[in-house]
Amino acid sequence: MYAVGIDIGGTKIAGAVVDNEGHILAHLSRPSPALDAQAMVDTVVDLIEELSRGRRIVAAGVAAAGFIDADQSVVYYAPNIAWRNEPLREKLERRVALPIVVENDANAAGWAEFCFGAGRNVTHMTMLTIGTGVGGAIIVDGELFRGGFGAGAEIGHLRVERDGLLCGCGARGCLEQYGSGRALLRYAAEISHDPVLGGKLAAYRHGDGTIDPAGVRQLLELRDPGALRALRSIGEWLGSACASLSAVLDPQLFVIGGGVAAAGDELLSPIRASFLQNLSAKGFHPEPEFAIAELVNDAGVVGAADLARRHAASV
Ligand SMILES: [Zn+2]
Repeated sequence: MYAVGIDIGGTKIAGAVVDNEGHILAHLSRPSPALDAQAMVDTVVDLIEELSRGRRIVAAGVAAAGFIDADQSVVYYAPNIAWRNEPLREKLERRVALPIVVENDANAAGWAEFCFGAGRNVTHMTMLTIGTGVGGAIIVDGELFRGGFGAGAEIGHLRVERDGLLCGCGARGCLEQYGSGRALLRYAAEISHDPVLGGKLAAYRHGDGTIDPAGVRQLLELRDPGALRALRSIGEWLGSACASLSAVLDPQLFVIGGGVAAAGDELLSPIRASFLQNLSAKGFHPEPEFAIAELVNDAGVVGAADLARRHAASV
């Protein structure tokens, strides 16, 4: 039972043929024509056709950043793509002879992690994807939670600071402004002025006060105390948000994914410490586990393919 998974990113569109155990049999990618809505659809059709050639494919799933309706068909709004109320499923089904589902990319990645990765032994899992922003996926009782309109699980837009920093979503004080890769760079830029901790970071500071992301990544690998201090800052915000999420969702496991999760335990330990500090009914509330995501770059395509395969099996 093979399905195609497509993951639409800001710079590239990745595609893969995936079997029902989450293994990838073939892989392809194309540059993303992000600002041309029609060219995006053409590229997705091309990838599905090329990956399907000579194989028995049962369905295709497409993951994209943005609000997708609860029926997995219309992209209401995509932050990095020129899609507004795009009836993507209908357009694709008209051109490829396969059942199609469209899913939010963080949901697809979370689903893959739940089925085949760090979450495979639990039934209730919450995933936070820490990339440039903060994405979320929630699994409740073995099912992906989408919300009544398909726009649920936007953990990055949980408000953690009243009247806090302005967020890209238009609100203030969202977790994304304090616990994301972008926030990590902001903390690193601040710490680069610190006479004790900032020495190495200062070498990567640009004239406009921002800091080079590759430089920060490198200093994290070298365990530079200044860079680690910045990482701890985002970990503290994330851990405190997990405590709030625990009060509502009570997951058995939090999975931390995305590019910043490459820091591993250096990120997990401040998250755990801050979680315990902020947990309600401390000492009486059973404590969930925390784990780093296992599927890394393939989670989007694997999750999209699996959701499509399940959809095809249910109709
Ligand atoms: Zn926001």
